[in-house]
Amino acid sequence: MKEVRLKRGREKAVLRRHPWIFSGAVDEVRGEPAPGETVRVVDARGKFLAWGAYSPQSQIRVRIWSWDREEEVDADFLRCRLRSALALRDEFLRPLETNAIRLVHGESDGLPGLVVDRYEDTLVLQILSTGAEFWRETLVDLLQELTGAAVVFERSDADLRELEGLPQRVEPLRGDEPPLIEVREGRLKFWVDLRRGHKTGFYLDQRANRGQVGGLAGGLEVLDCFSYTGGFTAAALAAGARRVTAVDSSAEALELARENMKLNEFDPASVEWVNGDAFQVLRQFRDSGRSFDLVVLDPPKFAPTTAQVQRAARGYKDINLLGLKLLRPGGTLVTFSCSGGVSEELFQKIVADAALDSEVNARLVQRLHQDRDHPVALNFPEGAYLKGFVIQI
Ligand code: SAH
Repeated sequence: MKEVRLKRGREKAVLRRHPWIFSGAVDEVRGEPAPGETVRVVDARGKFLAWGAYSPQSQIRVRIWSWDREEEVDADFLRCRLRSALALRDEFLRPLETNAIRLVHGESDGLPGLVVDRYEDTLVLQILSTGAEFWRETLVDLLQELTGAAVVFERSDADLRELEGLPQRVEPLRGDEPPLIEVREGRLKFWVDLRRGHKTGFYLDQRANRGQVGGLAGGLEVLDCFSYTGGFTAAALAAGARRVTAVDSSAEALELARENMKLNEFDPASVEWVNGDAFQVLRQFRDSGRSFDLVVLDPPKFAPTTAQVQRAARGYKDINLLGLKLLRPGGTLVTFSCSGGVSEELFQKIVADAALDSEVNARLVQRLHQDRDHPVALNFPEGAYLKGFVIQI
């Protein structure tokens, strides 16, 4: 039996059902498991703890599939986990008015390293661990069996794969490469490019927050900073924002954003597109005395893992300081962090520091999180990666 034995006292996190075992906790690996192969995890005295997927290169040396000694990790096991993930979306998420939804959210759905999003009738698969990679073909078959989807596209091109020693891969797995897909979200519509778009194509996690921002934007002048393909811009315009300035460093994203405004039949004159580095653009806005009623800051992950937290904190502070400076008295800042390495508590401190330096009185009036199709397993707090604050000055 291939086995990973932990150091004495290092079984505590496993017993609390945290799904990650770090390399520092491992005492001995027996039987030369291949990358992604299932291993039996035992404590220092050889007592069974869990079944997990072995990842020889990653700091996260084992990701746990199951804590049940009787359970076997095979196609039936995976079918059962997938069924339960789909059932959650079916029962709990049915009221979401959309054709784009996250069906599987990795660790929090008991499937470490596996992300599956559904766009209309197309599934997009993203594999982020050796364990999910090991079962890739089985998973694709099972997903087709359970969802009836004819087209499955793989977007395994996230940087995290490098940490697992996995190559980048973007290709159709079943069916032809999908064309641009039209996603509906309430009364909004967006074109999504599954090959070139970020993540699996669209920021599904911000769905509910787009609705919230819409609720705040009526009649206002809005800055949508890090706009990507115009999610918050569209939400603001639909709610009757007077004018939106959208800033992003990706010309490609802004091009699709423009198409998205056409798709929704918004007046092109109501949006100003700025292609550039947000830090520079906002500084220029500040220096030229521009101001807004509502500022949305939705930057990319500054700290994908805890190692980059310090640098990330500086980035978040700078951009929030600039955002606050651009607000008119009584204005609202909606600010996000999607860094797994930055906790909500730390993010609040950073924004508080920015408010202090910008000499405004700021009140946190609402906390925002990832939408409900991105659940968080209680034993896996890292799953709560997206946090946002609505702040009034
Ligand atoms: N708010 C969007 C998602 C934003 S994702 C939505 O709801 O769909 C983050 C965006 O920041 C990406 O589009 C990326 O191109 C952009 N970006 C990254 N670094 C940037 C920088 N320094 N300046 C401006 N935009 C940047």
